[in-house]
Amino acid sequence: MSLKRRDFVKLCTGTVAGFGVAQMFHPAIHEAFADTLTGKRPPVLWLQGHGYTGCSVTLLNHGNLSIADVLLKFISLEFHPTVMGSEGEQAIEHMRSIAKTWKGQFFIVVEGAIPVAAEGKYCIIGEAGHRELSMVDMMKELAPDAAAVLAIGTCAAFGGVPAAKGSVTEALGVSSFLEAHNIATPVVNISGCPPQPDWIVGTIALALELTKQHGLEKGLKEVVKALDSQGRPIPFYGRNVHSNCPYLPQYVNDEMSTSFTDKKGCRYDLGCKGPQAFCDSFERKWNGGVNWCVANAVCIGCTEPNFPDGKSPFYSNV
Ligand code: SF4
Ligand code: SF4
Repeated sequence: MSLKRRDFVKLCTGTVAGFGVAQMFHPAIHEAFADTLTGKRPPVLWLQGHGYTGCSVTLLNHGNLSIADVLLKFISLEFHPTVMGSEGEQAIEHMRSIAKTWKGQFFIVVEGAIPVAAEGKYCIIGEAGHRELSMVDMMKELAPDAAAVLAIGTCAAFGGVPAAKGSVTEALGVSSFLEAHNIATPVVNISGCPPQPDWIVGTIALALELTKQHGLEKGLKEVVKALDSQGRPIPFYGRNVHSNCPYLPQYVNDEMSTSFTDKKGCRYDLGCKGPQAFCDSFERKWNGGVNWCVANAVCIGCTEPNFPDGKSPFYSNV
């Protein structure tokens, strides 16, 4: 079964008859992964910058597809500081040899922001030849030769918490960093603090399928067409939280919750930022569909470029 970009958008937004939101991955998406078992698996280098590994944890908890299958069978994860067995100079040299052998055809996943102050010394990700290698060094070295960069989490996409007011590290998101260094490699932003793991796996499926159908260069152009103005995949980030919230009728009728234990009303007066936020967690939900942000608390607008400063204070809208 072939999956077109247009179909993918419909499937992921749950608008295709017969595939409800509980079944968040249509069989065609499973096939997009299964097909890669017969072909070359794209090498992926996962770099962790200025962050706390939460985006790796959210992905490792993914339940819709086996994450072991995604990482080990469908892509070829060649470097990941948290889960790889190798370490030290050997790991760095392996990463460099993959980038050389697969020039123009490997992918970089970035988790965390890129701190540029103090010549990048706030984030050292390895060492080789008795020289410390910063996130800045590795991005300047590897990104120009990558096919694309996936910026996972709001820190990697837009700077996020490490770039918030008071930080001294001058942290940047991937796009801003590449732009500052005239590196034209395409970037896909999968924002969220952390992102819902379906958004990560679904975007990888989209990229695999489109590059398989059209070849690497044209396929990546098709991926870029599926992004919104913030570089995020429209299937996951194309809808406003507030406009699709189950509490919208209460908002319209001015029936507001005044405490977190009051689950009946709209959470706007408790600080909900749903009107300013775009994602599909109102229907995809979290933790295997058990719950979502607004059901128990408020939306804090974690997918947006101005998070967290522009969404603070989280628990007030006055
Ligand atoms: S709870 Fe938040 S997202 Fe939902 S209707 Fe109220 S303000 Fe909008
Ligand atoms: S609903 Fe709001 S807080 Fe929850 S994931 Fe979406 S943007 Fe983030």
